[in-house]
Order: sequence, then C-alpha cells, then structure tokens
Amino acid sequence: MKTIILTIAFIFSLTHISGQAEKAKLKITHLTGNFYIYTTYNTYQESQVPANGMYLVTNDGVVMFDTPWDTTQFQPLLDSIKFKHNKIVVMSIATHWHSDKTAGLEYYRQQGIKTYTTILTDEFSKKNNHKRAEFLMAKDTVFNIGQYAFETYYPGEGHTVDNIVIWFEKEKILYGGCLIKGVDDKNLGNLSDANVTAYASTLKKVQKKMPETKVYYHRT
Ligand SMILES: [Zn+2]
Repeated sequence: MKTIILTIAFIFSLTHISGQAEKAKLKITHLTGNFYIYTTYNTYQESQVPANGMYLVTNDGVVMFDTPWDTTQFQPLLDSIKFKHNKIVVMSIATHWHSDKTAGLEYYRQQGIKTYTTILTDEFSKKNNHKRAEFLMAKDTVFNIGQYAFETYYPGEGHTVDNIVIWFEKEKILYGGCLIKGVDDKNLGNLSDANVTAYASTLKKVQKKMPETKVYYHRT
C-alpha cells in the first residue's frame, strides 16, 4: 500500500530562493486525488523561504491544513480555492504554534471558518502572542468531513513541544507538518524550539502508528 509522507515547510532550510520578486506569491500544486499543496513565502534572515500547507477538497467543503505564512495571501488562497474548485473553506487546523502554521487562524475565524489547534498549541500561541484558534482539541481527534476521515496524532516533542501530524488512514497519507523531514534534507530545520533529544523517539512513534510506510517526499 502506498503511503505518502508530506514534508512541509522547510522554512529555515539552507535553501535560498532568488528572484522571488517575479514569482507568484501563492503556488498551488496537485498532490493526489483531492489533496493539494499550497505554498507561500516569507523573509527569514534576509532570504525568501517557502512554507507549505495542504488542503483537501471534500463534498462538504474544503479543509485547510495549516495557514499561509504570508499574511497578504490569506484571502487570495480562499479566492483561488473558490475559483479552482467552486467550494468554500469550512475548516482550518494548525499543526504547531509557529507563525508559518498559525498566522491565518484569526483571519479565517473572522471569515466563519472553523479553526482548530490542540490545547498545547494554544498555550504556546498565547505565550508567544501568535494567532489562536476558536476550537481546541484536548486529545487526538478523528474528524469526518464529507467523504473523508482523518485523525490528529500527537507523537511527542520534536520540531516543537506541541507538533502534531495528521493521518489519513484510508488514503495512507501522512501530513507531517514541520516534524517530518525528507531524506535529502540537510538538517532538521529550525531547531530553536525543538527537543532534539526526543526527536528520534517521536519519529519512531509516528512510524509505529503508520507502519509499512513508503516515503513520498514532497517539497517545493
Ligand atoms: Zn515550526
């Protein structure tokens, strides 16, 4: 069975993107089935770096996983989704508290979109003055939206204390947020809030929960 592991947002990787001025600020690429990757960019240490999120088109509307990092792209992403699929976004769920995941939570809440994080993520968002979600999850949660089901899973500390992954059992798709890195990645990315000691055992827990994994590495 094929499993797809998404590696999202190498925001602090060594990659330097040049010529961003001519590039689109928002990029949408098809992943598989009704799954799409969107990319926005922001400046980190004087370089333009990409951050990826995902969205899923269901019969009951679109589910957004993480929010754009670029604050000018919150509405353009909604508009692009409406134009492309003729559907509205009904839910947005952020996988850890860093702003490349959570920046749009407040804006989307104002648009009537149901926004979610874990309680733990919310604690860090609050402490760091980041945007917060309307609905908080106390534990791993299964969502049924339209014809799809997915489950949030907290495997322990890694990229951050609060990082969760999202698992699509039927489709064998793992949305790993910043926790899961690709084999060709030079390092673990931004470790300023990481638990490097726990990282390996956290990844093992993900692997155990999603066995027989064939890694498909997605990156911008
Ligand atoms: Zn992060």
